Amino acid sequence: MKVLSVNAGSSSLKFQLYEMPEEKVLISGLMERIGIGNSFYTIKINGKKIKKEKELDNHATAFKVLVDELKENKVVDSLDDIKAIGNRVAQGGDYFDKSVVIDDDVLDKINELSCFAPLHNPAAVVAIKAAKQVFPNALQTAVFDTAFHKTMPKENYLYALPYSWYTDYKVRRYGAHGTSHKYVAQRANELLGRNDTKLITCHIGNGASISAVLNGKCINTSMGLTPNAGLIMGTRCGDIDASIIPYMMEKTGMSAKDIDKAINKESGLLAISRKSSDSRDIEDGIAQGDENCILAQKMYVRRITDYIAKYYVEMQGCDAIVFTAGIGEKSIDTRRDVLNELKVLGVKLDNEANNVKGEERLISAPDSTIKCYVIPTDEEVMIARDTYELAK
Ligand code: ADP
Repeated sequence: MKVLSVNAGSSSLKFQLYEMPEEKVLISGLMERIGIGNSFYTIKINGKKIKKEKELDNHATAFKVLVDELKENKVVDSLDDIKAIGNRVAQGGDYFDKSVVIDDDVLDKINELSCFAPLHNPAAVVAIKAAKQVFPNALQTAVFDTAFHKTMPKENYLYALPYSWYTDYKVRRYGAHGTSHKYVAQRANELLGRNDTKLITCHIGNGASISAVLNGKCINTSMGLTPNAGLIMGTRCGDIDASIIPYMMEKTGMSAKDIDKAINKESGLLAISRKSSDSRDIEDGIAQGDENCILAQKMYVRRITDYIAKYYVEMQGCDAIVFTAGIGEKSIDTRRDVLNELKVLGVKLDNEANNVKGEERLISAPDSTIKCYVIPTDEEVMIARDTYELAK
């Protein structure tokens, strides 16, 4: 069965077409600048990468162009060869604890939840409607980034705020990157050869979160109501004293929108380093002795180890720590700095093994009390798996 895995942004469309259940990727690609002019796309097929410039005025046009490419490259004979389309949806709120087939009611709920994911959910709605137009006979599913975190106990998802904020406004911790945490947790359990495990999964990219996964289920995660909680990120502050916000609003006259921009786009590594939000630039800065970059990295690493320590205590131990996403997979220095801080827990890094980028590998020494892995994430295959299960 051919299953299309889709991750839509407001002006982008990332896709992979799978032959399921073999999980063979037939074609993959990214369409960019949809609806904003100068659009182009890149596709990968049979090890070849092709880039084309083409006007994509909306997501429906993008899907039509995609179909033409599939036919031209003889991946499909007709539209109907694509039996199911899986859509990544950022926020599933309190409604969804697993992937579902999309009907009108589901689409309304995804739309309603846009208030918690204003950049992501509306883009998914647009893409789902566009796909329906172009592939009227395909089954469509929604795979939620929050679903894996729905197993958190109430003491971990509730904030100590007026209770009516939770009951009336649904203010609670939802988490993010759930599909990625689930993928690497499953893979770590395969590597450990058992499922009764205590795992700490670190998805550290431009956005970053850490989860505590006990016996395959998420019991706690660092992101909150929105993806600006927990860790320090490229441009997001993560955890702060909540009262800073009214203080700054009163002192400066900043509006809620101004504050939102400051804490999401102008904070994090960018703010401390005063140089860049990208960890590669921070590493270059450290090599040149830049004090701001050195401080930014110290704060960044401290926040990660704070969460690892917290989840270690919560689970009363840990079998494995997993690193994934851009920085987790590729920043040798960040992994080294984090794991060296955990020596007190008996963690021992194998420096030679840690010399790896984007490859699955055990990076702890044989006598480390906790196994440490790099496991490249694969959210697309998780979307395809759930979609195949719902379609078959
Ligand atoms: P997103 O959250 O946008 O999906 P990614 O998971 O792709 O982000 O991670 C992107 C980040 O990964 C970049 O901002 C950069 O900081 C980091 N990164 C990528 N490659 C490297 C590398 N070779 N060394 C260190 N950091 C890297």
